[in-house]
Amino acid sequence: MNLHEYQARDILRRHGIPVPPGEVATTPAEARAIAERFGGKVVVKAQVHAGGRGKAGGVKLAKSAAEAEAHAKAILGMTIKGLTVHKVLVAPAAEIATESYVGIIVDRTSQRPVLMVSPAGGIDIEEVAAKTPEKIHRLAVDPRYGLLPHQAVALGFALYSDVKQARAAADIMQKLYGVVYAVGASLAEINPLVTTADGTVQALDAKIGIDDNELERRPEIAALRDVSSEAPEEVAAREAGLTFIKLDGDVGCCVNGAGLAMATMDLVKYYGGQPANFLDIGGSSNPQKVVAALRIMTSDPRVKVILFNIFGGITRGDDVANGIVQATKEFPLKVPIVIRLTGTNEKEGIAILERAGFKALADMDEAVKQAVA
Ligand code: GDP
Ligand code: MN
Repeated sequence: MNLHEYQARDILRRHGIPVPPGEVATTPAEARAIAERFGGKVVVKAQVHAGGRGKAGGVKLAKSAAEAEAHAKAILGMTIKGLTVHKVLVAPAAEIATESYVGIIVDRTSQRPVLMVSPAGGIDIEEVAAKTPEKIHRLAVDPRYGLLPHQAVALGFALYSDVKQARAAADIMQKLYGVVYAVGASLAEINPLVTTADGTVQALDAKIGIDDNELERRPEIAALRDVSSEAPEEVAAREAGLTFIKLDGDVGCCVNGAGLAMATMDLVKYYGGQPANFLDIGGSSNPQKVVAALRIMTSDPRVKVILFNIFGGITRGDDVANGIVQATKEFPLKVPIVIRLTGTNEKEGIAILERAGFKALADMDEAVKQAVA
């Protein structure tokens, strides 16, 4: 789950990281009133779960409250990377001297939280990594000891030659490390971390991604979810108890079990296709889950074919077949469907499908090949 910048800023602030004040507006008039309280010179920032808002025109400086209102009018309702902006953050404009990057990700390869810092901040860190990788400094933190003061100071000096600034940055890194554990983050990033004209070090942008598995024991973090800013199909999938991840291809996949779902996507690619999604209907197979899965896939205009790959264990073939038939009674499928169905209650499932005019295959390769074709 991703947090909005304003939510991430609040968390950073609560952990003692210097973050300028800021307030959220949902209308241009509100933005104006906030800008007036901050003295007029503000930055107006789109609150969407996407980076690169600056480049997309979603971050604008204003010299007066009236200008802030105009910026808010332009930004509210705009789409950035397919996401509609419903809120803007209005904050006093900082006078930036330098921009650097500080981020922590939970890294699977090293199985540790990895702290990354770069004096080349402000821009996409992916771009820095691709073009000037020598400007990124990394430290895999040993979770037994945490981020030690001398390690943080050493990285502070990778950002600033000034001792006070290096120490201030080190302090921010240690606090950010605390944030990762406190909120269950898989990513916590400050970009840019700035020095201002008077020399202070501040976090001007904040991005936090929460590991979904941490949400159950952190209701206060789970409550920060903003459903209006998530892809509608992902919201529908979560509510139906499906594990769903949208991808860029056109082969809609509906599979039982995460491992089989991964293997199915691999095979789709192997035969020259591109999966439109990862979708795991899970171990039990309530027909309603299948209906929900089909509703989600058929509502995506990019999906050109639907591929079912069911290897029944706990999942029963007749439940899945009933779900498919039920769905076709509720809405048109619009695209061809290829069904592979074996395992528990296979015979019953196939009979149900055949009565409704569908064919089922037993071979996974054959089904994937047909779907791709
Ligand atoms: P992002 O593009 O989504 O990462 O949004 P950021 O919040 O990082 O803003 C993008 C860029 O806008 C920053 O790198 C800064 O250069 C600039 N910016 C953001 N806030 C301010 C501010 O308060 N003052 C000034 N002068 N520039 C800002
Ligand atoms: Mn940024």
